[in-house]
Amino acid sequence: MSEMPYSYDAPASQALFDRAAAVTPGGVNSPVRAFRAVGGTPRFMVSGSGPYLTDADGREYVDLVCSWGPMILGHSHPEVIAAVQDAVARGTSFGTPGEGEVALAEEIVARVEPVQQVRLVSSGTEATMSAIRLARGFTRRTKVVKFAGCYHGHVDSLLAAAGSGVATFALPDTPGVTGAQAGDTIVLPYNDLEAVHEAFHRHPGEIACVITEASPGNMGVVPPLPGFNQGLKDACAANGALYISDEVMTGFRTSRAGWYGVDGVRPDLMTFGKVMGGGFPAAAFGGRTDVMEHLAPAGPVYQAGTLSGNPVATAAGLAQLRLLDDAAYATVNAVSDQIQTLVSQALSKEGVAHRLQSASNMFSVFFTDRPVRDYTDARAQDSFRYTAFFHSLLANGVYLPPSSFESWFVSTAHDERALQRIADALPAAARAAAEATA
Ligand code: PLP
Repeated sequence: MSEMPYSYDAPASQALFDRAAAVTPGGVNSPVRAFRAVGGTPRFMVSGSGPYLTDADGREYVDLVCSWGPMILGHSHPEVIAAVQDAVARGTSFGTPGEGEVALAEEIVARVEPVQQVRLVSSGTEATMSAIRLARGFTRRTKVVKFAGCYHGHVDSLLAAAGSGVATFALPDTPGVTGAQAGDTIVLPYNDLEAVHEAFHRHPGEIACVITEASPGNMGVVPPLPGFNQGLKDACAANGALYISDEVMTGFRTSRAGWYGVDGVRPDLMTFGKVMGGGFPAAAFGGRTDVMEHLAPAGPVYQAGTLSGNPVATAAGLAQLRLLDDAAYATVNAVSDQIQTLVSQALSKEGVAHRLQSASNMFSVFFTDRPVRDYTDARAQDSFRYTAFFHSLLANGVYLPPSSFESWFVSTAHDERALQRIADALPAAARAAAEATA
């Protein structure tokens, strides 16, 4: 990696990072935040407002990460903050049922037609872990099919060939996951229906479920080819397995009803997180009542959580979802289109081979001239160009995901001023990408 001195020019962040490294492994609480894929000092943020983040050195950035998806209305939206303040003033956790969690569940059920019942949890990882346990309990089968490059959180059995941080650090598999835990996971290439049919053929009556990102964003954005999700659904239905659509990233972001609102393929179970928590730890899984009622206390499959349905988190999520009407999605989509155009124009002007891939308003840039259809394609890109591109934008006040294997996220708050700042920063970043060497 070439020297990027400006990336280290963040003394207050560096001092915090040094303190953090003494008391936290790698100085961070989630690996991709550490900047290891791109080098340099991770920026410690102290505040967020609309499309901007401000770091400990007092520098402001246009935020194109949006907390990895949740902040679809931008930071510190006044109505979300007011709902949180109102909830906090009434207490922070009761350990009993409360109206907020009923209202949030009703909102989810109203928006996503295949979801008849929903169970609230605190993270996307918990949602996918619980959905898989439920699928196994319901079908009384053990095996799970997942796709290389899809990330479903750090669930033991799902860390095989995962995207996101696992892809960023090129981890083949993770110590601490036993052969038994990984042994029931069948990992297949994404967008390959033949491989799915073959797996069902090879394991008759053994596959409990197929889990897929509704439209993957954890190997960069790699949408399903036309018919892929429907093919998964049909293969599951024909073989007595459940089709689980992981909408932790796409849910309530790619449309009112998430990716289901885009492709209309009916999953048996779905998982949600990110946007539905309004920036707080709230997530969910849901689906057909006849499946969901296998969960305790209605049924025998155990699942629980001290802070599940937390009143502050549900207030934030509900406030955010209620603000996400058709006009809000039209705004986010338009912002996304404009930024994609700006990025593509800047890179083309410098002759940099690239592909912008999008799924509704989620998008990412791959430094390659070939379409990216699966994890193998994603890994074949010139990631060193992303490093140079990233650092140039960072130095000029634009905050991208610190990895080329992540989606970029925008919000309704990305206004003309924010877009202009991106436009002003892009020419130098495109030049840096063009000049980068492996
Ligand atoms: N599923 C998908 C598709 C995700 O993108 C993520 C996180 O990025 C998860 C699950 C895990 O969610 P969490 O980080 O809240 O545990």
